[in-house]
Amino acid sequence: MTVEKNINTGTKEDIFPVSTVADSQDQTLLAIQNLRVWFELRKFGFGHAGYVRAVDGVNFRLRRGEAIGIVGESGCGKSSLMRTILGLHLPTKGDVIFNGTKVSEMGTKGLRWYRSQIGYVQQDPYGALPPFMPIQRILEEPLVIHGIRDKDEREKRIHKVFEEVKMTPVEDFLPKYPHMLSGGQQQRVVIARAMILEPKIIVADEPVSMLDASVRVEILRLLRGLQESHDLSVIYITHDLSTVRYFSERIFVMYAGNLVEKASVRQILDNPLHPYTHALMAATSDPDANNALTFKEVPPGEPPSLVTPPSGCRFHPRCSQFMEGVCEVEEPPDFEPEPGHQVACYLYQ
Ligand code: SF4
Repeated sequence: MTVEKNINTGTKEDIFPVSTVADSQDQTLLAIQNLRVWFELRKFGFGHAGYVRAVDGVNFRLRRGEAIGIVGESGCGKSSLMRTILGLHLPTKGDVIFNGTKVSEMGTKGLRWYRSQIGYVQQDPYGALPPFMPIQRILEEPLVIHGIRDKDEREKRIHKVFEEVKMTPVEDFLPKYPHMLSGGQQQRVVIARAMILEPKIIVADEPVSMLDASVRVEILRLLRGLQESHDLSVIYITHDLSTVRYFSERIFVMYAGNLVEKASVRQILDNPLHPYTHALMAATSDPDANNALTFKEVPPGEPPSLVTPPSGCRFHPRCSQFMEGVCEVEEPPDFEPEPGHQVACYLYQ
């Protein structure tokens, strides 16, 4: 039975069958398989001029109730990866698989449902909230779009989610406009809007980087509490290892469109392997001894062009451990020097 046929005739459960046996055994909720997201460059608006390889062969699995952090510099492709997971970009190749179903095969109706299963917390709360809408309407809109026609039901959901994000007394905040709230309160509204459709996954894009230091911890605690109470899976995207380690169970390090190291938080902090991970840790803003800064130098140079990335290992022009005749020849595959710790670097073959 094709997905399209199900959409036309079935209920939500028919459209999106429960996970395969394998998925339910390993608790995979979202699988990213060999994902490529390339954007075509056009010369003066016409004529092919190459591709921006924003995401270029990414693989990972997100389990139910798990929080992962994706860490990398600006321009490494993490925003394109995030937008593809949100269903806003189509994969050029490979798949995003939610609960056993390929997102690319869901069709229009299925895609709308899929988007309701993923809440999005933006980096800039003020920019994320429409300035001329009262908070009540901002929260009501996704409910209306997704077919909650009963006004009482909408009110009930809004009150419940506002209590969960600690915006009480609720009646005091609902008539206000975004500019009447502090940055921390605005971010709580953004989180409430992300939670209002009772999603299974939250994608949080640098959710505290634009907030005052004093409210960052509160917002991280709030997100962590919601994750636990709702058994949410969370994808936390950031450039800063100092916050991701308090939030995630596993960390994936992204460089020039690829994940170059995947491991538990403990493994990354105690035993970072990839030279780029060392560099990120050296650049972190939190000088905690647990960082184990064994790497003394931040590598020179800038992140590479995603249009013409370096051959072989994309990090090789900046790597102090570069091995001529090896590193620039072929892209390194993932090696697994210890269980659950994968690294794309020839030092560990
Ligand atoms: Fe450095 Fe070679 Fe490892 Fe790339 S593969 S990070 S160039 S040692």
